[in-house]
Amino acid sequence: MKKNIKLYIVIPCYNEEEVLPETTKRLKEKLNKLINDNIISKSSRVMYVNDGSKDKTWDIIKDINAKEELFTGITLSRNRGHQNALVAGLLTAKNYADVVISMDADLQDDINAIDAMLEKYLQGCDIVYGVRSSRENDTFFKKASAEGFYKFMSLMGVDIVFNHADYRLTSRRVLEEFSNYHEVNLFLRGIFPLIGYKSDIVYYERASRFAGESKYPLKKMLSFAWDGISSFSVKPLRMICSLGFVILFISLIIMLYSLIQKIIGNTVDGWTFIIISIWFIGGLQMISIGIIGEYIGKIYSETKQRPRYAISENLLEQKDN
Ligand code: UDP
Ligand code: MG
Repeated sequence: MKKNIKLYIVIPCYNEEEVLPETTKRLKEKLNKLINDNIISKSSRVMYVNDGSKDKTWDIIKDINAKEELFTGITLSRNRGHQNALVAGLLTAKNYADVVISMDADLQDDINAIDAMLEKYLQGCDIVYGVRSSRENDTFFKKASAEGFYKFMSLMGVDIVFNHADYRLTSRRVLEEFSNYHEVNLFLRGIFPLIGYKSDIVYYERASRFAGESKYPLKKMLSFAWDGISSFSVKPLRMICSLGFVILFISLIIMLYSLIQKIIGNTVDGWTFIIISIWFIGGLQMISIGIIGEYIGKIYSETKQRPRYAISENLLEQKDN
């Protein structure tokens, strides 16, 4: 079995001066152990991605890089947000690594899950998703909102792994495939399941933030959720159409009701006509918007120009070798 994997760990950092020294210390121990066990090669690295931090994060990263062989970094021209920083790191690391693991800087992702992830990779998985087994360390609100988020996403037709954030292992060929996704409205945890290949899950306990504050306040989380839905699903557009049919159906009932009222003589002149018109035209308009929505949905998926397939094995090539 192939060992000595060239592993890169990509970590986006935004104003993380408080946690970087500790994260570095723990990852150094971890990597050295994996190197001693011959699981990863000496050329493996931790790659910090400074996402336009306003504090000393980049100075600290440069300092660590000067002192520690196993640590390197890149910095973005300004703050572009976690997802963009992650892409920058993944696409840079793929040029050097066999395998890339992405994780957060704040030690919330248990670094001991790395062993299990590499094990799964050695067993033939191309993607290994880190999944939180419990959220005991999250506040009630964070837990409820985060779990609601995953449920709502799948209700809205977005295929994601439950309770998986961005702690994941990807092989180089997955990243090569990923580089063909050119969308700018990023929701990475939705893209990787689309890529395919053999994947598996590793469970880990999510710790609380080592130091500093969350860079994902509720407002950012909500806009992230909406980004996920609107970048992956045309279901909201479909719902307009369905709503149109519901309203049209209601208008039939209203029609019957108001005709009966008219026959009984319970109405003033003109009421029946107005009520029927309002409901009927309302339903018709809703359906029309829904039909336009269907076409917009098509334009939306065409403009993304996502790859249509990825070949995982080609017997022709195997014979040539
Ligand atoms: N992060 C980033 N750019 C940003 C915001 C956050 O690179 O604009 C990084 C941050 O440094 C951390 C990771 O994204 O490594 C996750 O952020 P955080 O821990 O604050 O989110 P939470 O765990 O609270 O959801
Ligand atoms: Mg965090």
